[in-house]
Parts: sequence; structure tokens; C-alpha cells
Amino acid sequence: MIQRTPTRIEARPADNDSASWQQLLSGAITSPTALLERLDLDPRLWLQGAEEGHRLFAIRVPEPYLSRITRGNPQDPLLRQVLPLSEEGVLADGYVSDPLQEVTASETTGLIRKYQSRALLMVTGQCAINCRYCFRRHFPYEEHRLSPLDRDRVIDTLRQDTRINEVIFSGGDPLVASDRLLAAWTAAIGEIPHIRRLRIHTRLPVVIPQRVCDSLLAWLPETRLQTVIVLHINHPAELDLATRLALARLRAAGATLLNQSVILRGVNDNAEVLTELSEALFEAGVMPYYLHAFDPVAGAHHFDVSDDAARALVRTMLASLPGFLVPKLVREIPGKAGKTPIDLFA
Ligand code: SF4
Repeated sequence: MIQRTPTRIEARPADNDSASWQQLLSGAITSPTALLERLDLDPRLWLQGAEEGHRLFAIRVPEPYLSRITRGNPQDPLLRQVLPLSEEGVLADGYVSDPLQEVTASETTGLIRKYQSRALLMVTGQCAINCRYCFRRHFPYEEHRLSPLDRDRVIDTLRQDTRINEVIFSGGDPLVASDRLLAAWTAAIGEIPHIRRLRIHTRLPVVIPQRVCDSLLAWLPETRLQTVIVLHINHPAELDLATRLALARLRAAGATLLNQSVILRGVNDNAEVLTELSEALFEAGVMPYYLHAFDPVAGAHHFDVSDDAARALVRTMLASLPGFLVPKLVREIPGKAGKTPIDLFA
């Protein structure tokens, strides 16, 4: 069923562009020693913990992201998101491998149904970066690898359930997949009349801005589906010039850009940082959308911020930002029909 591959995508000279992001992807740092060397961090202080954490969830950081980290600063908020620590091995009460119970929400291989009108498609299990706090750090991606038969089943499921009006490309990071595959999925989904929107959850335009290449921009505006790209940016230092240019290209291609952040101890649990993030997002044409309370995933308890502290931060943001720049503070509760807002004044 998923067979439409616009030949002009394969033939475009922009393939050089694709090779460029693919080279950056495959050249990512994947060892603790290389990360510490690249960032001038003392191995006597950091190597043992980094190796312990790396054994639990492999390190992966591509160069465009590394280039925004201040060398020699172990507290850099971008470094904190990617540096494995020995704390990841601590078993903390209430922290589990599948905090959102997604494994049991899988309807068909590769398709997760948490909400009635939306279906989440695991396009790929790969990411360009491994964020230490990821709530899917234990997700069994291997079991969700899609065979051609599975792809047909996914399309059949989407076609038969007329309640579904939005498909979400997720992962991993869906933009790790080739443009050829993404264009084919989008074309097949676009043929289903009751589906109105395509949502793409991605961190790639942030961590490898070169991913917003000509071949991506060739298929994206072609679909009749309204396209929403939900980015994942946690700190204003992630929005460098290359990322802002990539976001401008996505907007020019007709995509609506939203951002969701996770509130993380030592990264962005600070009202000034979150306020600056909202300002920087808006300047880049991105609406701050959600600020997620931390999902209690095993191995990441050291990032947790209490609900009381999160409420206080957002109340401070309300005092200094217009309402439309204050993201909604939410928590995802397994089984609920949508995100649950956290009452700021409780
Ligand atoms: S990019 Fe997203 S899915 Fe991938 S590791 Fe980071 S938070 Fe998880």
C-alpha cells in the first residue's frame, strides 16, 4: 500500500544535503571517552559515572549539538541533557521503565493509541541524540520495527477507524527516517479522507539543523494534510542561528511550529531560563505549547522537579510574559483522554 515514492525526490541534487545530515548523524559521538575529550572534561571526575550510565542507555550526541556546549563546564545545561551519570543506576521508588504505559497501548505493531482521535506511529526507533531523561529510554523499539506487512496493517487500521483524524509521526525521532519513507507514509495517510492532520514530533531540527534539507522540503508542502511540527527544546541555548534558520524553512513550507519542553532539574528549573526560552521560541516562529512535568522513568530520577516547584516557576512566568507565551504545565497520566493540566494555584 505504501508505494508512492515521488521519483523526483530521489533525483534531486539536494541528495548532497541529505548526505550531509546523514554524515552528521552517523558521526555522532557514541562513547564517554570521546565526549569528555571533545568537551575538555576531566576523565578522573566524570569517566566512571559516564561509563556506568552509558551501559544502561547508550550515549549519542551529534556534532551540531556538541558545538553549542561550553567546553570545560560540567554544569552546562545542554551537557546535562546528554552526559550519562552514575545516578542512572540508582533504583528510586516510583520510577519505572514504562511510565506512560505505552507498551500496553500498542494497537498494531508500530501504532500506539492513547487517545480516541489520534494515532501515534513509531516511524523509527532511532534518535539523533539520546536524552538522558527520555521517558522511552527503555522502550522495546525492536518489537515495533515495521515490516512491509505491518505497514499495510497500520494503514488498514487508520482507514477503518473513522474516529482518527490525526496521525502523529513519533519514534525515536521520525526525521531520522529517510525522506523517501516519510513521503511514502505521508502520501498513503493523505489518501484516507477522515485524516486531517499530520503531526511530527521531532528534536532533529534542533540537534542537527541540516536535517531540514531540500529533500525534506520537497515532500512536506505537497500533502493536503495540515502539518504541525512539535519540537522539543528545553533551553534557549539550543536555539542557535542554524536552528532558527531551519525553523524558518519549515515555516515557509507551511508547517505550524509548536514546542514542548520537559522541566528538568539542573537544566531549566529556573524562571528566567524558561522565560527567555519562551521569548526565543516566539522570535523563531514557534509557539510554546507544553511544559511537561517529569515522567518518572527509571534511571532519570535526578532530573525530577517537584510539582510545587514547577507551579511556582510557571506562576513567575505568568507575571512577566503575555499569556500566549506561557506554556501549559501538564502531566501525562496513563489512561487519561489527554494531557492533565497541573493547577498552578493548588
Ligand atoms: S530525542 Fe526525544 S525520543 Fe529521542 S531520546 Fe531525546 S527525548 Fe527521547
